[in-house]
Amino acid sequence: MLPANQAESVILGLVRSLAHPSKSSLGSQQNIETVDLLSANGRILASPVSSILDFPHWDNSAMDGYAVRYEDVQHCGDRPTPLEVIEEIPAGYLPQKTVQSGQAARILTGSMMPKGADTIVIQEETQREGNLVTILSAPKPQAFVRHRAEFYKAGDSLLQPGTVLSASDIAVLAAAQCIKVSVYRRLRVAILSTGSELVAPNQPLQPGQIVDSNQYALAALVASAGAEPILLGIVPDRPDELKEAMAIALRSADMVLSSGGVSVGDYDYVDQVLGELGAEIHIRAVAVKPGKPLTVATFQNPENSVLYFGLPGNPVSAMVTFWRFVLPAIKKMSGRSTGWEPRFVKGRSLQALHSDGKRETYLWGQVNLIEGEHQFHLAGGSHSSGNLINLAQTNGLAMISIGQTAIAAGAEVSILQIG
Ligand code: AMP
Ligand code: MG
Repeated sequence: MLPANQAESVILGLVRSLAHPSKSSLGSQQNIETVDLLSANGRILASPVSSILDFPHWDNSAMDGYAVRYEDVQHCGDRPTPLEVIEEIPAGYLPQKTVQSGQAARILTGSMMPKGADTIVIQEETQREGNLVTILSAPKPQAFVRHRAEFYKAGDSLLQPGTVLSASDIAVLAAAQCIKVSVYRRLRVAILSTGSELVAPNQPLQPGQIVDSNQYALAALVASAGAEPILLGIVPDRPDELKEAMAIALRSADMVLSSGGVSVGDYDYVDQVLGELGAEIHIRAVAVKPGKPLTVATFQNPENSVLYFGLPGNPVSAMVTFWRFVLPAIKKMSGRSTGWEPRFVKGRSLQALHSDGKRETYLWGQVNLIEGEHQFHLAGGSHSSGNLINLAQTNGLAMISIGQTAIAAGAEVSILQIG
């Protein structure tokens, strides 16, 4: 049984990122597609982006006021200075005149600075009468002028490959007029549920059967991770059928998630069939609770390599194992350059937490940030891996390390964020 942090590094070490395919440079091109900026939210940038525009594009005013020559107004604190207003410059207007000594231009926020002027006097510091404006106090030189290229110089790097595009990145790309972006294709993740007892949620439930919730849970988890779930349904516990289903999964995906059939029971055939299909098995069990049985294997196909996770069948175990081990692998494999590690935060548990101390234990609940502190509120009810019900509406897993049997109410706890 591998400790969780060792399993995590073995898994991350096995990941082939879409950004670094092992084969030809052709392979890397096949992993890249072009999308409209409007569809780019959450996608991962595949090429560096720079803009041909400077930001700001030209010198402009940060305030409503008057564009003046500093030398004309530097002493006007002692004696208010009247200037002739030669032009009005609203946003979007190209100034036509040059501000000469003794002159000013009326200017509005964001508008282009006229030639000759170097300073803005905000309108609150002025008095206007007809075509004369009196400057009441001396501004600082170059006050409220945003200079061309002050924020960004054309040609510099704007965004790097491996960036997960969010609203702020999309705002920048839109401003830079990059309306098509090059992103990694979505990672394809095949999902299959193993177990002769399973029925789909839309089928009548016969006595002794179990509803296949894992397919739905994993589909949602995979999609939330930005990958494309490929749903392959339920496979009974029969080696021949399992082999056929796994072979299809391996052909259609970059990663395969099966659930069930990885324990030591009489009908647990996943590891056997993986061996028959030529997989290299790297992990068979991990010291976490819930979620001890976890098979991690790789397949080297001629055209690609596939990472296989045989997750435990218990719905809670399958999900905890996903958050702890599969999600970081998906993030890294999808082409992200950083930030794939599990997101642990320090917090304070509101209840006492217990474990047998033998495996890294996860207990689910609500984590809320209250006055700068993460507070963990343990979900009520059973924390058996067979109980899925109280996992609903949780967003954090409190972690109890191996060797630790209790965390007192009010004590510090590490929390894995899952929401
Ligand atoms: P296994 O790992 O195959 O021994 O399954 C452990 C437990 O999880 C058994 O009670 C199974 O019936 C249940 N289980 C297995 N697969 C699923 C699934 N896809 N959805 C819901 N429960 C499952
Ligand atoms: Mg089973």
